[in-house]
Formats: sequence, C-alpha cells, structure tokens
Amino acid sequence: MGSGEGIRIVIANQKGGVGKTTTAINLGASLAVGGKRVLLIDMDPQANATAGLGFEQVPISYRFLLGEMPTEKVIKRTEVENLFLIPSGIDLVGFEVEFSSTEDKHFILSKRLEGLTGFDFIFIDCPPSLGLLTVNALVGGQMVLIPLQCEYYALEGLSKLMNTIEIVKEGMNPELKILGIVLTMFDGRTNLSKQVEEEVRKFFPKQTFRTVIPRTVRLSEAPSFGKPIFLYDASSSGTIAYTKLAEEFIRRIENER
Ligand code: ATP
Ligand code: MG
Repeated sequence: MGSGEGIRIVIANQKGGVGKTTTAINLGASLAVGGKRVLLIDMDPQANATAGLGFEQVPISYRFLLGEMPTEKVIKRTEVENLFLIPSGIDLVGFEVEFSSTEDKHFILSKRLEGLTGFDFIFIDCPPSLGLLTVNALVGGQMVLIPLQCEYYALEGLSKLMNTIEIVKEGMNPELKILGIVLTMFDGRTNLSKQVEEEVRKFFPKQTFRTVIPRTVRLSEAPSFGKPIFLYDASSSGTIAYTKLAEEFIRRIENER
C-alpha cells in the first residue's frame, strides 16, 4: 500500500448522533499518525467533519461531485500529517434534489473517485439518512463501518441499513461489504451500556469490533477546537481508544484481503 488506489471506507448509519463523524475524524487521524495516508471526504451538508478538523464550511465536496472542481483543488491538507480532507458545506443539500431524476444519480461519487490515487484509505463520512448522498457513498465505497451508540434502541434501524447495503451490493456495487460495527459512547458506569454491548455482540459476534469507544467529554470538546482528539488531549481515554481501534482496523483490513 502507499500510492495505489486507497481502500474506500464508508462510515454510515442513518441514525443521527451515533459517532460517525467522531469516528471518521479520530480513526482517520490515528491511522495517519501510524503513517497511513488518509483522505476524509465530508459527504454531510452539516459539515461536522469539516468543522471538526478546523476548516471553514465551504461546499467543496459538492462542487467536486458536480465536476466543477478538479481533484487536486478539492483535497486539503490538515494539521495532521498524512490526513487530508475534502470539506463540505450546507449547499451540499442541493445534491439530493438536483440529481433526483438523473439516470446515473447513484454513481456520481463513484465516478469522481475513479483514478484518485495516493491514499491508503479514503473515508467517506455520511449524513444521518439513507438518501442519495449515503447511497452514492455506498456505491462508491468498498467497505462499510457502522458506528452504534451504546444507548436504548441502538439496534433500531440497523436492519434497514443492512438491507440498503444489500440492495446496493446486488444492484450497483458487488464488492461492497461490511467491515464492522463500532460501539461508541460506552459508559462503563451504566448497566445500559453493558447490556447494549452484550446484545450487539450476541447478534453480530464477528462484525463487532473488540475495541469499544468510551463516552468521554474530551471527545465532544475536541471538534470545537478543530482538532482530532490526540492533538487536543493525547492522554485522554478517547485517544487511547481510537488508537486501539486503528490497530484492530488494520488487522481486520488485512484479513479481508
Ligand atoms: P450526525 O448523524 O448528526 O452526523 P454523527 O453520527 O456523526 O452525527 P457525531 O457527530 O460523531 O455523530 O457525535 C454526536 C455527538 O456526540 C457530537 O456532539 C460528538 O462530539 C459527541 N460524541 C461522539 N462520540 C462521543 C464519545 N465517545 N464521547 C462523548 N461524546 C461523543
Ligand atoms: Mg456526522
């Protein structure tokens, strides 16, 4: 790996606020610290990944999708060496409407990603819906990473997501597979978190990552400073967890190949 076409990882869950963006930023940053070249594409009009990496919210991923900006202009260097970003902004909401009736509407991102080289991993941070943006990400990706919050109804909606993944796989992207489920915002003081973990592991023993991301206020503070957790608080339990997740992620990827 190094200069070839990166492995494209879609971070998806139509449920809002489950840790998609936090995982995209911090897993991406941990891998970058480990020497991997990582590109994060912000495919959410909310642009939380963009802000969380300290960038102004500008609809660059939208213009990239429209084909108005060439690849070399849309990719921005971040404060973290080896971590790059295609930023987003609110105008990206227009995508769903503008492309709703075009024939190739599901393949726009996938086409733009053709020939994009120089990264080990390309992370695609999705919005909380199963709309056209998420479907484009699934069509353009190779593996799906699903963050699940250790909360009531954690599993609710998961079958719908898996069903969508199956439909995309059958009709549009046969190579798509689920890389795994990451449990987030685990609170060791509550029985609820433990029960959710147990339940998820019972249903998805192989898919669920061993590493669990704890709930820690440091992880929720870091984005307002525009930094991944390791630059904000290197000794935080969040830094430790995402570093472990990155190691497990690499092992999993190697086993998948
Ligand atoms: P959306 O669906 O809106 O895109 P999301 O799935 O991307 O949301 P995040 O934005 O990553 O979720 O997280 C939701 C909120 O929870 C954010 O305020 C974030 O800072 C916070 N958060 C995420 N993970 C943790 C954690 N492990 N501990 C504490 N807070 C967290
Ligand atoms: Mg998000």
